[in-house]
Amino acid sequence: MIPAEIISKKREGQQLDKIDLENFIHGYLSGDVTRAQMSAFLMAVYFNGMKLEETLSLLEIMVNSGSKLNFKHSKNYVADKHSTGGIGDKISLILAPLMVASGIKIPMIAGRSLGFTGGTIDKLEAIPSINTSPSLKTFEGWINKVGAGIISQSKEICPADHKIYALRNETGTIPSIPLICSSILSKKIAEGIHGIVLDVKIGTGTFMKTRKEAYELGQLMKQVGLTYGIKVDIVYTNMNQPLGRFAGIACEVEESIECLKGNGPDDLMKITYEIGSKLLLQANLATDKNDAMYKLKKLIESKTALKSFELIIKNQNGSLDDLHINLNPKYEKFLNAEKSGFFHFVDTEKLGWALVELGCGYRTPSDSIDSSSGIEFIKKTGEEVNTNEPVMRVFNSDPKRLASAFNMLKKTFQIDKSPKKFKLFL
Ligand code: URA
Repeated sequence: MIPAEIISKKREGQQLDKIDLENFIHGYLSGDVTRAQMSAFLMAVYFNGMKLEETLSLLEIMVNSGSKLNFKHSKNYVADKHSTGGIGDKISLILAPLMVASGIKIPMIAGRSLGFTGGTIDKLEAIPSINTSPSLKTFEGWINKVGAGIISQSKEICPADHKIYALRNETGTIPSIPLICSSILSKKIAEGIHGIVLDVKIGTGTFMKTRKEAYELGQLMKQVGLTYGIKVDIVYTNMNQPLGRFAGIACEVEESIECLKGNGPDDLMKITYEIGSKLLLQANLATDKNDAMYKLKKLIESKTALKSFELIIKNQNGSLDDLHINLNPKYEKFLNAEKSGFFHFVDTEKLGWALVELGCGYRTPSDSIDSSSGIEFIKKTGEEVNTNEPVMRVFNSDPKRLASAFNMLKKTFQIDKSPKKFKLFL
């Protein structure tokens, strides 16, 4: 079938054969399928979805478009975690060293900011001189040497996803269950891992706004992962407010280090321990959940996980001593409460767009990240606030963008007479 025929078939909600999908995706990689055609196709998938067979085909085409890592003979359990996208979500930076300290290897291929959600790689690159794009051979060497590495997706790994991912960001076609599932799992399968924990976010600050959609995505990812012989656990977590006390770039790295020093906020640590304990159980490194939690807490208390973090960063040529360079934004502004009462977030997606406006994401593909940018959440859902008390501190190095983000933030929260409850696990 020619590209226009394939797009029309999907537009009418019909199922595509693997060979047609393959020709279409390969055509996009070679330039025979245009950006306009791929955009139309993605929008058709967004509206009409995909059958399980189509999602499996898409994923396989993405995996086979690049190289794969192989840890078949590793003595250690090799695993990863992935979040479906959120705000202030820095768990990968805390969990990877914690798992290394536990004896699990983590070859993590992470993403950049997508839509209104933050990206681990953009945050990690706030560490001066860090290498996030080694060759695959070098990356494999890192995993064997220090136990973990966090890298961006290169042309070597799932190039089809790499090219489509960027286009989805431009065309408003991110929140599609088959597209998210194949995008995330293609990279994870190419990592050659034995197991994974997926953190499926639900709420205004992520792509899946309802439990129904999130559970559908979670179930699909579990089914697809099992098809590939990977152990899959899922946690469903609430993204109706940002995670931790900071969202942004360098400030999130600093907050992650605080977590590894034992000073992490409750919500971040609870999800980190939940995901970590599931990985320990998958790897048979704990007898039960209590044992796993106990072991993880000890690795934080003893600073063993912090040492692993320092080792991973040093191995990637990053200079933690120079992180402070990006922790000095030129401008900051406090957002104050206009009345007293109880604070709660009402629109975390808007907050994510305000972060993009500040410099934490990509308004256009050519945008660059402002590593100094971010927000400190002085108040979070359920906390009491007095009139004129600051609820957020907003910072970056561009006064125009700061002013525009600041205005957007005013609509992201409310102050009510009674406190709203917030349930972290859904
Ligand atoms: N993360 C990914 O890697 N892909 C998506 O589509 C969404 C989140």
